[in-house]
Amino acid sequence: LIRLEQVTKRFGDTTVLDRLDLSVDAGRHVTLIGPSGSGKTTILRLLMTLTKPDEGTITVDGRRLFPAPEKQCREVRKKIGMVFQQFNLFPNMTVLRNVTEAPRTVLGLSRDEAEARARELLDLVGLADKCDMRPTRLSGGQQQRVAIARALAMRPRVLLLDEVTSALDPELVAGVLDLLRDIARSTDITLLCVTHEMGFARDISDQVLMFDAGRIIESGPPEKLFGDPDHERTREFLSSVL
Ligand code: ATP
Repeated sequence: LIRLEQVTKRFGDTTVLDRLDLSVDAGRHVTLIGPSGSGKTTILRLLMTLTKPDEGTITVDGRRLFPAPEKQCREVRKKIGMVFQQFNLFPNMTVLRNVTEAPRTVLGLSRDEAEARARELLDLVGLADKCDMRPTRLSGGQQQRVAIARALAMRPRVLLLDEVTSALDPELVAGVLDLLRDIARSTDITLLCVTHEMGFARDISDQVLMFDAGRIIESGPPEKLFGDPDHERTREFLSSVL
């Protein structure tokens, strides 16, 4: 479903991704782990077209995302949703409007359709009673649930999760991770996660990719990667975070 081929991304003199090849089949749950600065978030940002590669190609569901004409890029991007570390909700809109906005403006849904979909999703994330509130009045965990509902409202094929629990108070982490586990289990959505929660990575993933300095140095099912990694760097990294 997702294919990056020979993708290079530089910021100034720093090569953040170095001729990276990565492919993810439909319905898979893939987690990216590795030291800070190894390029994990950059991959998610490339898929969201928040930044562009210097070289290489990116394809989603058989269509080019990069390089591609602007219009095609917008079309392809609709298949992808993202949840950010810092929620990034619209503070001046109600919870309901946060979830209906993109389906109305980008997908052209009617107000009734968008609201029906939003209420269903807010119910799924346990916030049916918060529709009319502003997100700033919610806890971090609740805000992150709104952000998850907002991303799902676009019915994406792929959901990108960028350290979605890092900004949460410790007691709110488990609830958000449980919700994501439920979504992973009960839908056919393709997940690409960057996380420092190794327990979550272990139970949600079919495949774990270990990054170091802009390259994938090891990949495999979680039992193998966490239980018996081949690479010394992977062992070091895991012992530093576990
Ligand atoms: P972390 O776990 O800390 O989020 P990461 O593996 O996700 O790390 P990236 O966020 O992808 O790493 O960043 C990789 C490198 O690219 C870092 O060295 C970072 O400083 C650099 N970088 C990222 N975005 C920019 C930018 N807009 N301008 C300059 N440098 C950047």
